[in-house]
Amino acid sequence: MSKVRVRFAPSPTGFFHIGSARTALFNWLYARHTGGTFVLRIEDTDKKRNTPEALRVLLEGMKWMGMDWDEGPEVGGDYGPYFQSQRQPIYDEYLKKLTDAGRTYEKDGAIWFKLEGERYSTYDDYLKAEVEKVKAAPIVIDDEVRGRVERAEEMDFVLVRKDGSPGFHLVNVIDDITMGITHVIRGEDHLSNTSKHVELFNAFGVKPPKFAHIPLILKEEGSGKMSKRDKGALIEEYESRGFLASAVRNYISLLGWNPKNEREKIDIDEIIELFDFPGINKGNSRFDEKKLSALNAEYLRELNIESFTFLARPILNKAGVVSEDADEDYLQAVLTLCQPKARSLETLSELCGYFFIDNYAMDEKTGVKIAKKSDPKELLGEVLPILESIKSFDADSLKSALETHAESKDQKVFAYFPALRYATSGQGGGPDLLPMLAVMGRERVVARIKQFIG
Ligand code: GLU
Repeated sequence: MSKVRVRFAPSPTGFFHIGSARTALFNWLYARHTGGTFVLRIEDTDKKRNTPEALRVLLEGMKWMGMDWDEGPEVGGDYGPYFQSQRQPIYDEYLKKLTDAGRTYEKDGAIWFKLEGERYSTYDDYLKAEVEKVKAAPIVIDDEVRGRVERAEEMDFVLVRKDGSPGFHLVNVIDDITMGITHVIRGEDHLSNTSKHVELFNAFGVKPPKFAHIPLILKEEGSGKMSKRDKGALIEEYESRGFLASAVRNYISLLGWNPKNEREKIDIDEIIELFDFPGINKGNSRFDEKKLSALNAEYLRELNIESFTFLARPILNKAGVVSEDADEDYLQAVLTLCQPKARSLETLSELCGYFFIDNYAMDEKTGVKIAKKSDPKELLGEVLPILESIKSFDADSLKSALETHAESKDQKVFAYFPALRYATSGQGGGPDLLPMLAVMGRERVVARIKQFIG
């Protein structure tokens, strides 16, 4: 096992946001790529928001996306506890080190970190001052993605809040030290925290980990990063809408990472093999639901029919199209026809609902179009006795029987197809007609045609 130790350090809020999922994924990928360790650490210092329910949403989202963690909640590990709310004694011990080294002071009830060098002691002084006056050497971050970044911290900052709770900077750094984290991979929005964190690492006398700041995910339209209110922002929504986790994971891996091989659909094993820091983009990426949906459709069409049926059943059930105990053979036969045309599980009931329900909607435009050419009722009246009496109701037998009939009328067999399809499905398009009729079965087809003829 390599020495690499990375962590995903979410603060559970009740949502698993696509930005967090992407941070988790990049850490997970880097751990799997290097054979290192992926730690899940829960930054639950905000008691009001970090509820058990919020944690559940997060853990389920991680599991759904197949991001297993080597250390953390439910699995334990040698560097625990993995909840910040349980690590107070560690924070006390480390804070004491800073205090003993003369690097803390109290002001307005809070405990502050004292920067070295010439700094401003109040915010007003800082605002009034000219930049040249800052004497302190800037912090240099050799970022794995952005290259050399220099940032000077100009103000002391709070370590322990007025209410006695340890602040983000303090606990984040102490945890990274005590958990032996070698690489911090997190969103670019944390860059301004990183210089503070490096100051803290230096004050503790510990070499900082390597940093990789990953670009933002912009919302689909306009500028600005994706917020939880934007469409497509929450992982739990993809799950409930029937997206495939493999497709979502593939798509998210491309938000800020480029395999440089022109391909979009890449199996997870290959992503793991190719994933590394040089492939991470410097520029921001933009969320593109169409691309995600197209990728999802590709993954859907690739599933074997058993898996496809397994996933489709609850969705069709929820849409009120099939009952919970719907016949597996019929379901599978229908889905075999529909799968190649499926764009999503979410829209599957629109695609194949008429196979299951008898009061399917009749598409008006199609009706008008068909009636222009010839009288569909007359055509159907001709073939109804054939459908009723044909020995075997399979696609080949139907084909030859209908062809024989068409010839006798000096017609092409296709002249009958639009009416047959429309009467039995209400649609103008769909799977190949004869296999479709064969799957529906004689009883259903005959009843539907009779109903149509009236
Ligand atoms: N809890 C912080 C967050 O959710 C962690 C940041 C980090 O990865 O260091 O943004």
